[in-house]
Amino acid sequence: MSHCPFCKKKIAMSKAFCSRNCKENYFQLIAIQIPKLFLKRIYVFCSEEEREKEITEFATRHKWRLDLLKNKIEDEAIKMGYAEDPLKESKD
Ligand SMILES: [Zn+2]
Repeated sequence: MSHCPFCKKKIAMSKAFCSRNCKENYFQLIAIQIPKLFLKRIYVFCSEEEREKEITEFATRHKWRLDLLKNKIEDEAIKMGYAEDPLKESKD
């Protein structure tokens, strides 16, 4: 058994993704680039409301799916130490 790289569902070894949708989402996610300065600005200088607005505008400007962009921004923010990892507590 193998795992779908997008949703982590178990799939047959012969398949790369569980669905066409996952494949498209996966490649769109890879294509999303988040400038470090943008990330810093929205986490350090923006309130939560302003951050939401900035992220929505960013998604619209680049024609990215908002949910995918948000996921990626959250991941990057955790990596950069701007946000807490919600899974961290359970691991300790
Ligand atoms: Zn999948």
